Amino acid sequence: MRILLQFPEGLKQKAMEHAKALENEGHEVFISASPTFGACDLALDEARNIKADKLVHYGHAEFHHVDFNVEYINYQIDAPLNLLEQSLDVLKNFKTIGLVTTIQHIHQLDEIKAFYEKNGKTVVVGKPYGFAKKQGQILGCDIGSSASVDRNVDVHLYFGGGIFHPLGALLATTKPFYVIEPFAGIIENIDHYRGTYRKRSRGKILASLNAKNFGILVSTKNGQHNLQLGKILKERIENDGLNAEILVANTFDFESINNMMEFDVLVNTACPRIAIDDTDRTRKPLISANELMEILKMKTELKAVTAH
Ligand code: SF4
Repeated sequence: MRILLQFPEGLKQKAMEHAKALENEGHEVFISASPTFGACDLALDEARNIKADKLVHYGHAEFHHVDFNVEYINYQIDAPLNLLEQSLDVLKNFKTIGLVTTIQHIHQLDEIKAFYEKNGKTVVVGKPYGFAKKQGQILGCDIGSSASVDRNVDVHLYFGGGIFHPLGALLATTKPFYVIEPFAGIIENIDHYRGTYRKRSRGKILASLNAKNFGILVSTKNGQHNLQLGKILKERIENDGLNAEILVANTFDFESINNMMEFDVLVNTACPRIAIDDTDRTRKPLISANELMEILKMKTELKAVTAH
């Protein structure tokens, strides 16, 4: 069988090892060298170009169904649980915990839940909205497991590495938010990011009020492609007498985008995290569709005020 292997950045170091194992089973093996952001970013074009019979995608669970033979190989990581005991002190004023993690540690969720319950806590594990598949799992673009239980909990707790995943959940919730980073040995409250990102969003909106030319980013990645939204936003902008063009790419190279000096504002329709995490990488404000709507509304209100 001809197989294309695809690894997220953190697992690319293991690519040859996996390729050799499959070659020894008699397969013809290729490795995708493109950057990989998630299961929203399957190397389907590459697989089709080399006429692969199968794409093997490591490190992520299925994002959504695609018309190709894809095998998903999850990487489960047993993280040390020694920080749980220590976390009881910072969580002492909270009775009900909303617990989330990533796919790498989802198999440890029951054990973590049982630990807190044994220590007198009530633990609520929410359901994702749809892109994430397991209860209690969050993705950068699916924070349903936290947001759906926000009303019912006193505190949110994320168990896992890095700030990328909990940041999305934090911005979609209102209760205190703690992170247990088992590998770095850190227990941290991340509430302060709410203010930082709210201020940043406000700044982008205010900086865009005089914008005339809008570039709408549409990605061709299988799980990020939203041309329909791009077209709706273009029409909406043009209806207000402004200019909009749709900018298409697989992975957006911000150096290249920065060369498109005519655009005053960039509107994201791809991975929702782009308009949150990559705003420092563009010369012009990089905004979400919601932020665009707010800008258009404010522009109309300003026009009405100045007309009087
Ligand atoms: S957060 Fe972005 S990169 Fe991650 S799975 Fe969602 S769309 Fe893909």
